[in-house]
Amino acid sequence: MFGTSVIKILLSDFTDLYLTNRKLHEQVDIMNDSINENKSMQNEILNQHSIGIGFIAMNGDIIFANNYVLNLLGYTEDEFLSKNILDITQKDDKDKTLVHKKITVNESIEVNVEKRYMHKDGHPIWVHISMSVSKGKDGKPRYIISFIKDIRERKESEKRLKLASEVFDNTNEGIVITDKKFKIQAVNGAFCDISGYEKNEVISHSILFFRSINHDGVFYRKLWQSIKTNGYWKGEMWSIRKNGERFSQWLNISTIKDETDNITNYICVFSDISTIKQSEAELEFLAHHDPLTKLPNRLLLTSRLSQAIKTAKRELSKIAVLFLDLDRFKEINDTFGHSYGDEILTTVTTRFKIAMREKDTIARIGGDEFIILIEKMEDISDIDQVLSKILNVFKDEIIVFQHSFKLTASIGITIYPDDGNNIEDLIKNADAAMYQAKDAGRNTYRFYTQEMTQKIFTKMFMKNEITKAFQNNEFILHYQPQVSIESGKILGAEALVRWNHPSMGLMYPNKFIKIAESTKQIIKLGKLVLEMACKAAKEWIDKKSFCGKIAVNVSAVQIKEENFYEVVTSTLRKTGLSGDFLELELTESYMMENPNEAMALFTKLKNHGITLSIDDFGTGYSSLSYLKKLPVDKLKIDRSFIMDIPNDKGDMAITSTIIAMSKNLALSVIAEGIETKEQHYFLKEQGCYEGQGYLYSKPVPEDEFLELLNTKVII
Ligand code: C2E
Ligand code: MG
Ligand code: MG
Repeated sequence: MFGTSVIKILLSDFTDLYLTNRKLHEQVDIMNDSINENKSMQNEILNQHSIGIGFIAMNGDIIFANNYVLNLLGYTEDEFLSKNILDITQKDDKDKTLVHKKITVNESIEVNVEKRYMHKDGHPIWVHISMSVSKGKDGKPRYIISFIKDIRERKESEKRLKLASEVFDNTNEGIVITDKKFKIQAVNGAFCDISGYEKNEVISHSILFFRSINHDGVFYRKLWQSIKTNGYWKGEMWSIRKNGERFSQWLNISTIKDETDNITNYICVFSDISTIKQSEAELEFLAHHDPLTKLPNRLLLTSRLSQAIKTAKRELSKIAVLFLDLDRFKEINDTFGHSYGDEILTTVTTRFKIAMREKDTIARIGGDEFIILIEKMEDISDIDQVLSKILNVFKDEIIVFQHSFKLTASIGITIYPDDGNNIEDLIKNADAAMYQAKDAGRNTYRFYTQEMTQKIFTKMFMKNEITKAFQNNEFILHYQPQVSIESGKILGAEALVRWNHPSMGLMYPNKFIKIAESTKQIIKLGKLVLEMACKAAKEWIDKKSFCGKIAVNVSAVQIKEENFYEVVTSTLRKTGLSGDFLELELTESYMMENPNEAMALFTKLKNHGITLSIDDFGTGYSSLSYLKKLPVDKLKIDRSFIMDIPNDKGDMAITSTIIAMSKNLALSVIAEGIETKEQHYFLKEQGCYEGQGYLYSKPVPEDEFLELLNTKVII
């Protein structure tokens, strides 16, 4: 410890220099007063300070340091006083000491520096030092007084802040800091790069503009719920860039709260994962598609088929699985090389895609093997349309590198659930059917079951024959009188189509109407029948041999055509027949399935005087209340209720009820299929006004019908 006199000097200097520090000043005064009395007290006071105090000789030797300094640097007093200030200064900071500075007489020095001292164990300690040079009366520097403050904590937080700001600026993640009302307060460079917005375009704006419409209310409700309960949310979210492009981001939203637990800010950190998403999608595509044709591969086909089976099971619908193998493709490949083969496969694929509906799955499952899935088939016999489209794909030659190839295919077909109710069976059986097609000479198709093949063959054959029948005028009409049961007079006639086939002879509608309906040829046929019937009736009326109604059957397929009304009215115009002589016969099912359409159409037709009757009445499910609303004129009791009269009491009851009901609803009623006198008298008794049946006459050609017209009473 240095002597009393030195302390005296030191303290007086100390007092002069730090008069501003009142507290210290007062303490120094106290010390001055009592300096001679209590030396240990002086030390104690210097040591009590929560600031380090040191005295350093001008050559750097440490003269004094209080306990704060000793504790800070880990030395005992004896160890420390034997040191020079340069010994304890971190080597990079040595130039911050005053030791080597040549201080001139008039210079008043007071320096504030931040530098690192070295702890006894070798680690640096950041301190703030306030240094002053004490001068003697002669003005010469005597020693340096240092006030030392430990600033490690501040340096540490400065370092952390710097680090945070570096991270904020340099990270690849977009960062947005908002206030509690989502008003943006700060964004980093990555946010600008990803979003395309400049900082000044978004600061002070709500972050909500960044939201995409890809998510629904449920998504956002869950997000806010998580923020509210957990203080954060993370997940995938779609956003919109400035240029309108949508992108997928991985977003992390966290809340910042103050000491009183109130939310002050939100921090949103996000990364653009659209490229990852895209490569994920590409990978996914590769895994599920054939690289050459880009068609679904076997894996995707299996999953689509499995899905289709579930739907079909639920909806009780059918699925067709078509196994298609190109004929003699291997020969082309072997002769011309794979590049030719590849070209052919891609051309066939393009043609398939054009021909088929988008909802049909076309998969390539092997070299020249394709599987086509046709879902939700209403009527499996419509498969012929699909087959025609597929066969059409091979109609034109395929030109590859100036070579022309005529390709054909063999197709095997299975139907769910008829030919198998699981993926394996359906594919296996379709494959077997395809081999049957190959065995049958290729360039054809086979169903797994013989009957189905036959059915479709017939349908395709008949479709072809009907087309020819139009060209060769093979359709003719027969007319069956509709008779007054009371008087036996002919009130009208039903026109019934017949097909005069060159080799199959006269064919009745049950052989071709259904097929014509499924091929839509009924539209043309119906139009033809209507025209022939109206033309004939007009002639009879003109000859005064007929003044009743001509009844024409209309198929639901035909009436559903948009221009049906125009077809009827233009036919009347063309033939000159008044609508008052025309009756259209429709089925119950059409009216029940399309009530609004029927109502609108019938109302328009009735304006032309045309009457409407419901054919085969009693076989459908007409609701009586509904019948009342429809502009219908007549009910035709179906033949099935008449044929067992008088043996079937039930049928008799039904027939009487229909007759009574028609009267109540002010509808006309006619019974069809009357073959016996018993039936005739029963109906007469029940008050049925009109009848049609073999008893009066079978449907007959026009000339025979005209003869009948001359007979006044036909029973
Ligand atoms: P439909 O409209 O109920 O016609 C009555 C059918 O019953 C006719 O058969 C007729 O020959 C037959 N029939 C009439 N009286 C008797 C009888 O006493 N006993 C028996 N066993 N049968 C009788 P057809 O001509 O074979 O016609 C069958 C069905 O084909 C018709 O039933 C009608 O639904 C349809 N059809 C006929 N011509 C056309 C047409 O031009 N267009 C449309 N869309 N369908 C037609
Ligand atoms: Mg009819
Ligand atoms: Mg009928």
